[in-house]
Amino acid sequence: MAVRPRPLPLPSKGGRLIILLFRAPGTGKSTFGRYVARKLGVPWISSGLLLRELARRDDRVARLIESGELVPSEDVERALFERLAQAEGGFVLDGFPRTVTQARDLLRFLRERSRTITRVYLLCAPDEVVLQRLLARGREDDTPEVIRERQRVYRAETEAVIQVLEEAGVEIVEVDTSPPAEEVEKQLDALLEHL
Ligand code: AMP
Repeated sequence: MAVRPRPLPLPSKGGRLIILLFRAPGTGKSTFGRYVARKLGVPWISSGLLLRELARRDDRVARLIESGELVPSEDVERALFERLAQAEGGFVLDGFPRTVTQARDLLRFLRERSRTITRVYLLCAPDEVVLQRLLARGREDDTPEVIRERQRVYRAETEAVIQVLEEAGVEIVEVDTSPPAEEVEKQLDALLEHL
């Protein structure tokens, strides 16, 4: 049975702004994104989810998502920043920023509103663990070679994003998501106690 986490005490003005990034697809981003948001009592805002909603009205966006390509930052940011502006009590942001441009735009957007990122959790799992998880999904395009190539491209992009955030003084904490979910959640609980 899923135990509903107890929300932490109310945050200070502007709320806690948490960002979840991941080194590779298959690290359980959405599962843990939802968990952290519930725990903090703030909305979980996923760029992927917002874009899938947009895709219902916009064929161009739908095609990009289907092919696994990134949607242009302009489209992502138009939808996302409107949503972030409404989340005055804080948020958990999931799947954004994915590129250096997006990272810089997000930092500017927050600076203009005198808000700062509380913390970034970088979800990591060894390549082999992710590989086995993705192979277990049994999708036709998930061959070990294709997955390894995706991991390589993804890692390069994420590293560049991390560098921009670090240069801006944001604290980045790595979380290993290879243990079973309950253990990862305990690890997150401990980290959230010290926000
Ligand atoms: P996700 O649910 O995060 O895996 O995202 C699903 C799809 O939405 C991705 O494969 C991209 O096509 C698109 N997407 C999500 N977030 C972004 C982003 N920050 N920038 C560009 N495209 C994105």
